Amino acid sequence: LEGTTTPEQIIAAMREIVENDRVLTADEADRRGFLVDPLGKHLGRPACLVEPISTLEVSAVAKRLSVAGIPIVPMGGNTGLAGGAVIPDRAAVMISMRRMDGIEPIPSGASSVAVDSGCILANLQMAARAADRLFPLSLTAEGSCQIGGTIATNAGGINALRYGTMRDLVLGLEVVLADGRILDMMRSLRKDNAGYDLKHLFIGSGGTLGIVTRAVLRLFPKVTRSATAMVAIRDAACSLRLLADMREMFGERLTSCELIDRASLALVLRHDSAARSPFADPPAFVVLLQLDGNDADAGLETDLEEFLATKLECGLCDDAVVAQSSSQSEALWHLRHALGHVLRHAGLRFSHDISVPVEAQADYVEEVVRSIARSWPEAIVRIYGHLGDGNLHTIICFPDRKPSDDPSGSIRRQVDDVIDGIVMAFGGSVTAEHGIGSSYIGRLVATRSSDELNAMRAIKTALDPDDVMNPGKIFAL
Ligand SMILES: Cc1cc2nc3c(=O)[nH]c(=O)nc-3n(C[C@H](O)[C@H](O)[C@H](O)COP(=O)(O)OP(=O)(O)OC[C@H]3O[C@@H](n4cnc5c(N)ncnc54)[C@H](O)[C@@H]3O)c2cc1C
Repeated sequence: LEGTTTPEQIIAAMREIVENDRVLTADEADRRGFLVDPLGKHLGRPACLVEPISTLEVSAVAKRLSVAGIPIVPMGGNTGLAGGAVIPDRAAVMISMRRMDGIEPIPSGASSVAVDSGCILANLQMAARAADRLFPLSLTAEGSCQIGGTIATNAGGINALRYGTMRDLVLGLEVVLADGRILDMMRSLRKDNAGYDLKHLFIGSGGTLGIVTRAVLRLFPKVTRSATAMVAIRDAACSLRLLADMREMFGERLTSCELIDRASLALVLRHDSAARSPFADPPAFVVLLQLDGNDADAGLETDLEEFLATKLECGLCDDAVVAQSSSQSEALWHLRHALGHVLRHAGLRFSHDISVPVEAQADYVEEVVRSIARSWPEAIVRIYGHLGDGNLHTIICFPDRKPSDDPSGSIRRQVDDVIDGIVMAFGGSVTAEHGIGSSYIGRLVATRSSDELNAMRAIKTALDPDDVMNPGKIFAL
């Protein structure tokens, strides 16, 4: 593979390592939908897509490619929202992890489990449940995203309030470096201070430092009692007071606390035929609350009802419903999960996955609404997301324009500048969950100091000196 290399030569070299039918040409990969990201914004065009079945195969592939300086792009379930898993480079190779999807047996009472990185998140949740354990990471894309992808993006999801992000759930990792070396860090230790904790470099690195092939993940006691409520609230400040009171009252049993504003809820109700609002009049905001416990929490639902009754009495909430069955709970959660697919009806839109300190969220919401109205009175601001984590998805929508109405990206840049300015003024981050990928490179540079960026580059250079691991992601080429 030295010197000038054509896609055909790369394919032939890959077929010397991996069986023919597990080396897909770009056309085959395209037909199977692997070459476009879920937002339809990033198109891949690699030499081929390889589907290894073992760590040794991943290692052999990486070694062969890196010697020749051929870019390597790891792909999980391709649900990432930052354009990280595709590459428009005819001389690159994508490595799909989907065939490495094993889960080690889970003994009763286990506090960890070893999995292959291509395991789909929902399959791990199911395996844990079958062993009376809980793997708590949960997000709308859980039926497709893989463990390796959720590690590479440090996914958060709806239960991060209680269980943390993927970073908090990983105990051990196995990673193949760009040059094919295998870092075996498959330890299940809760405490381990032996030098630098290297696994954390790979968590959230978006496939730029190595290919995650296996992981040891934490398991928790299964949930046997739950209570779900949706609360109508007049402003974001009240939602923060409710969150603080809920934490005070229910402690770590509060698993999720999600905010949805009126405009977002209206979009779901208009475009999702299964969606039903529990409230006659659309509130300014609704807060979706999930409490989870075990057999000692038999009165959880009643406790939640009584708590919310006091909040109605003192005027903190305007209305509230507590689900009386699991199907009612699912119906309330459906309103939240449906947001992912109804947004395509919102016209030209610019999505921001921001975080600010939890206590700053009400001021942030107020400032965004005020600033956007000042510059674009016709725009609709939609805000929803993980109130418990300070992670509010902020979508600026222009309902009378089509997604194709900003061909040069000039409106996007202006909107980004307004939102990023507000986020930074509150000490926040321009990407809370989705990572940098290829979509947010400029915004990373604009919002982090040169010292911080240089430290990141030094890590990249140390582990991947020839920049073959997912080039053009996080850092500009
Ligand atoms: C409807 C929807 C809802 C979502 N909700 C949430 C949410 O609530 N919270 C949240 O955090 N995210 C959310 N996401 C985005 C989230 O980042 C992804 O769903 C998930 O974490 C990515 O996993 P994946 O396997 O699809 O990775 P991919 O999309 O395939 O890849 C993502 C990045 O990880 C890298 N990568 C993938 N696998 C590996 C590997 N084995 N080794 C090294 N690098 C790898 C890729 O190169 C790429 O840079 C949502 C996405 C969708 C579509």
